Amino acid sequence: MKKTRSKILILILIILAGSIFSAMAPSGLQKKLPPYYQKIYQLSEKIEPEIIAIRRDIHAHPELAFQEHRTAAIVADYFRRLGLEVRTGIGGTGVLGVLKGSLPGPVLAMRADMDALAITEETDLPFASRQKAFINGRETGLMHACGHDIHTSILLGVAAVLSQLKKELPGTVLFVAQPAEEWGDGARKMLQDGVFRDYRPEAIFAFHVNDTLKAGYVHYVPGYSGANCDSFFLTIHSEGCHGADPDQCVDPIVVGSHIVLTLQAMISREIDVHDHTVITVGYFHAGTATNIIPDKAELRATVRSYGDEQRKILKEKIVRTITGICESHGARFDLDYQFGTPALYNHPELLKAILPTAELVLGGKDKIIQDRPEMGGEDFSYFAREFPAVILGLGVVPTHLEKTSVHSPTFIADEKAIVTGVKLMSCIIMDYSRLPESRRIKTIR
Ligand SMILES: [Zn+2]
Ligand SMILES: [Zn+2]
Repeated sequence: MKKTRSKILILILIILAGSIFSAMAPSGLQKKLPPYYQKIYQLSEKIEPEIIAIRRDIHAHPELAFQEHRTAAIVADYFRRLGLEVRTGIGGTGVLGVLKGSLPGPVLAMRADMDALAITEETDLPFASRQKAFINGRETGLMHACGHDIHTSILLGVAAVLSQLKKELPGTVLFVAQPAEEWGDGARKMLQDGVFRDYRPEAIFAFHVNDTLKAGYVHYVPGYSGANCDSFFLTIHSEGCHGADPDQCVDPIVVGSHIVLTLQAMISREIDVHDHTVITVGYFHAGTATNIIPDKAELRATVRSYGDEQRKILKEKIVRTITGICESHGARFDLDYQFGTPALYNHPELLKAILPTAELVLGGKDKIIQDRPEMGGEDFSYFAREFPAVILGLGVVPTHLEKTSVHSPTFIADEKAIVTGVKLMSCIIMDYSRLPESRRIKTIR
């Protein structure tokens, strides 16, 4: 009897603690969902089979960067059928769909990329790609091995859902299907071609598949989440001579080897340990035989860092190192240094504003994984330099696998992630467009 009474007391205490805790929770975490959530969920589930069918069709017909004609036509047709204002051929094959809500509100944008990779698919999916292309005279398979088919189909799904909720939609939504993410150039080309000349978004959102998380999970990185992807192309020249008479000419292999090692030492001795930096000389070609000192050595490297200032500093140090080593060996050289895709900045405040939505839609904080920054590249960064931007990683690992790898011929995605992406992005846009002006993000940093 006494035990029962104390159990009841404990139960009451737990209930009381629970209600105090929920009263303390921020308003975004309230269990009660806004009424449009239910509609978004129903519409998303209704269109799921259609969107998956489109995804499989795009997957079976992958197209390389700036050749996404078929994919772009699918996107543009779909937008037209939804009644969106459509512009095509932006920055090559880019497509813009404009959806105007009936309520006053901000202009927001969602971006997806459409291009595939020169990889021969090795999955046994019934819709696996059998497409081929010739690159530099060599035949290769083509594959959506980076999930851009999933991004594109989610874009269509969100457009479909929100176009049926126009009466409740504040503001305007821009749906951006970009070419050539893998070349790091599609976003820049679309901007140059005036994708936002008629409508300027206040914020822009995107997904990229995440190959370490299951469907139903998302991943995010506040601040820098992708690196500057710069490169250099170096040729060290020599007269060339017999390998048995090395005093007769400059040895470009020895000079190149000094450069490779000194660059690594430069990072460890000259760069602040807090400034993420990678220099990888991924290409070092020279020579034809054991007894010939070749007339040149070619080195190519990728240089990764965060921020505009840091990439400039690195360039100066690399040019100085290469010049110094070549001069000390009396070697002539040609150096071509290129700034590529800039680092991607995931706006921390914008993230903070949308994460409560992700928590509601995905069903808890444990579904949202904060991660460390990476040194990979993503040309969504060009948009993020113009507008507050957030890219979320969307878990796609199938339940029967531990992980799957993008850019691999065996990459497989769990298609359940598509409806999750559609629901999540639709709710993010609806919720964010309802925030009062004062709570929306106005600066890109
Ligand atoms: Zn990729
Ligand atoms: Zn990708």
